[in-house]
Amino acid sequence: MTDYSSFTALQLGEMIKNRELTSPELCEYFLNKADGFNSFIYRDKDAVMKQAQTVQKAIESGRLNSFLAGVPIAIKDNICVKGMPASCGSKMLESFVPPYDATVVSRIKNAGMVVIGKTNMDEFAMGSTGETSHFGAVKNPLDVSRAAGGSSSGSAAAVAGGLAPLSLGSDTGGSVRLPAAYCGLYGLKPTYGAVSRFGLIAYASSLDTVGAICKTAEDAAVLFNAISGVDKKDSTSINSEKIVINKNIKTSNIKISILGNAKSEAFKALNINVENAELSLLKYAVPAYYIIACAEASSNLARYDGIRYGHRSDKAKTLDEVYTLSRTEGFGFEVKKRIMLGNFVLSSGYFDEYYLKALKVRGMIKSELLSLLEKSDYILAPVSENGAPLLGQSLEKPLDMYSGDVFNVLANLAGLPALSLPGGVQLIGKPNSEESLINLALKLEKEIYGI
Ligand code: GLN
Repeated sequence: MTDYSSFTALQLGEMIKNRELTSPELCEYFLNKADGFNSFIYRDKDAVMKQAQTVQKAIESGRLNSFLAGVPIAIKDNICVKGMPASCGSKMLESFVPPYDATVVSRIKNAGMVVIGKTNMDEFAMGSTGETSHFGAVKNPLDVSRAAGGSSSGSAAAVAGGLAPLSLGSDTGGSVRLPAAYCGLYGLKPTYGAVSRFGLIAYASSLDTVGAICKTAEDAAVLFNAISGVDKKDSTSINSEKIVINKNIKTSNIKISILGNAKSEAFKALNINVENAELSLLKYAVPAYYIIACAEASSNLARYDGIRYGHRSDKAKTLDEVYTLSRTEGFGFEVKKRIMLGNFVLSSGYFDEYYLKALKVRGMIKSELLSLLEKSDYILAPVSENGAPLLGQSLEKPLDMYSGDVFNVLANLAGLPALSLPGGVQLIGKPNSEESLINLALKLEKEIYGI
């Protein structure tokens, strides 16, 4: 039997188009594989097969002919797919089944992709290792004793573990790029607003983006093209240009600024001018990020009150108990900690001292990054300065885990696009420069790996 997990999403799309393979055959192949990494929270074979058969008919009748038509895709569990649970990795939303599709999901369905299941994640996307999930930790398919990275842990593990050809994750402070890098994949975090957030369950709205986790930069480009663009259901969405693939860009006049200990040999081999740079405000990035993210999270998560939807305690006897017991039972430790931190920095007396100050720092970091991007075309930074941690070793040292996000939160604080490469570095670009990020990665793939 053919090992379909060794193909890229685009290759599989091409095989379906050429009638060498059908969408139901492909979906069945992936659904029959055991999930040894705890990467999915939900897979329903019957529902997926029905969807695949409908798509196949549309392909055969000529109504669907996009590049990824018929290809299965795994979706992070904080993105709403009509009729499938959206638990956000939390007991709070364990039984929540959204009655609508997120805009990204309607768009991938319009492009003929088939949602194969919902992937495991850190609870409410809070974490870097996939270990805060109510449904247990995700294992890294490259070494099952290690974390897959977070918070889009299952989306990366599903692709790296051969359970799906590509996936969607969300990135608030690195959650697409970190697991992608730990699992040897590409992670594309788009410019803020380039992809609609409608139907993405909010963590920190001013930082949240939906992104792609793929085996190749070209797959990421095609997926971005399918999901991006203005959406009237998200007032922060913008009309971004579609990526035009060019595998042969000229690299001799490119300039890259390097932050941290990011390895740049591959870029030097392309005759790119690389220069070490410094960000004077780097040490404030993590504190500013966590103050803003927790403040927004405390407000966004206030809606889970046991009344409208989500977990409701059956021990509650009074209205106050409905609120307190439902939230006490429904949220895990990390989420509670961040709600408390967020409420603290927003409380009168501390608002100016923490929250407002963090907003000012965010503005200053953005200016510093933009001026670096005036002097050079891209910033190259590590995704993480250490490799994937062993499972069970990160949650005891939360401050170390938070400070590990230092280079990832930069792109979110400034709303910039970033592409992480399988080797563990990321390219950060100017606003709306997804096309040039992808094309540079393609050039690198071609020259270095010969593909
Ligand atoms: N590790 C970061 C956090 O816990 C990033 C999470 C994310 O991007 N969703 O907030």
